[in-house]
Amino acid sequence: NSLFQNAEFVPPDAIFDVTRRYLADASPDKVNLGQGTYRDENGQPWILPSVRMAKEAIGECGHEYLPIAGLKLFRDEAIKIALRGTKAYDDGRVATCQALSGTGALLLAGLALKKANAGITTVYITEPTWSNHDLLFSSLGFKVVSVPYYKDGAFDFKSYVNGLKEADSTSAVVLHACAHNPTGCDPSRDQWKEVGRLVQEKGIFPIFDSAYLGFNSGSVDEDAWAIRYFVDALGLEASICLSFAKSMGLYGERIGLVSYVTQSTETARTMSSILENVQRATVSNPPAYGARIAATVLSTPAIAEQWSKDLITMSGRIKSMRHKLFSELTSLQTPGDWSHLIKQTGMFGYTGISPSQVAYLEDKHHVYMADTSRISIAGLNESNVAYFASALDDAVR
Ligand code: PLP
Repeated sequence: NSLFQNAEFVPPDAIFDVTRRYLADASPDKVNLGQGTYRDENGQPWILPSVRMAKEAIGECGHEYLPIAGLKLFRDEAIKIALRGTKAYDDGRVATCQALSGTGALLLAGLALKKANAGITTVYITEPTWSNHDLLFSSLGFKVVSVPYYKDGAFDFKSYVNGLKEADSTSAVVLHACAHNPTGCDPSRDQWKEVGRLVQEKGIFPIFDSAYLGFNSGSVDEDAWAIRYFVDALGLEASICLSFAKSMGLYGERIGLVSYVTQSTETARTMSSILENVQRATVSNPPAYGARIAATVLSTPAIAEQWSKDLITMSGRIKSMRHKLFSELTSLQTPGDWSHLIKQTGMFGYTGISPSQVAYLEDKHHVYMADTSRISIAGLNESNVAYFASALDDAVR
């Protein structure tokens, strides 16, 4: 008898299975719009020129352990992306810890919330959202509540605010700082202000999942607007979780940052100790190479300048693919209104097609995408966008 006779098989996250099926397809026409990883105009992974420069500058760097809180230069540089120009940053009221990319940052944020005895029992997320939010926070023992976020190709502000009104000071809310995954629909600045007012009034603790700063608009400052508004204009405490997977193309290096903005330097010191403690319990020493690359990019003016250009290259290509797809569908006179494709931002587009149309696209046209109708716009390029548009046209007719 096995100890595991009562163990149940857990199906893998659907999106990884989409990639597996794509790789197994021998068709030369196949298109992968599933996984959210940037691809260049030839459909290939892109090593950012700024990252190449940083790697050259780093050279041989050995394999020693980093401190448990991570590489100090990386932490000091990375936090500026989120909080540059805010009073909390200037006052030094911010605890930071290197994390295993955006996922690891959320993990440490959740663990630290528990360890801090903050009284948070419930975490509010959006419906739909990135598939890991529910899994991660419920695995940590939080009650997870989904609030409707999307309707008819747009952010459903009214339903979202109504849902969030149920939350109170025993609640945290996960906010997508920009480039909402999967819908690509972000609140306007006025809507952010209202969400902020509600969060403040109800005493809800904001956790900013910030996996796309700089990648969304091409400007870090633009993309960090909501974070800075909450922290600076509203003076709120918050956790900010950063990832350098997308913005530096460092997916596999697992480089991210978790931070806590607090009301005093003393509390920041306490939260630093807690972050270090929960890191020790789960990861111990975070990985060094990605931290060195990101730190070098951010701290070397000439490389930082190149990174700004790289962000514009990536976000610009994605924007141009949105427009190209929209104009192809318009010229095909594809039934339906597709203008949401150019109103949405970020890596993803929510097409709004049905699961059976998604299955048809895969079976008939070798197009691979999430059955939620989400497409990764980064998977489109000049060579396949017209093909995808005509396949989509066929699927919806
Ligand atoms: N949060 C959101 C909304 C995401 O879309 C992603 C990546 O897809 C992540 C967090 C974290 O990704 P990673 O752990 O690779 O940085």
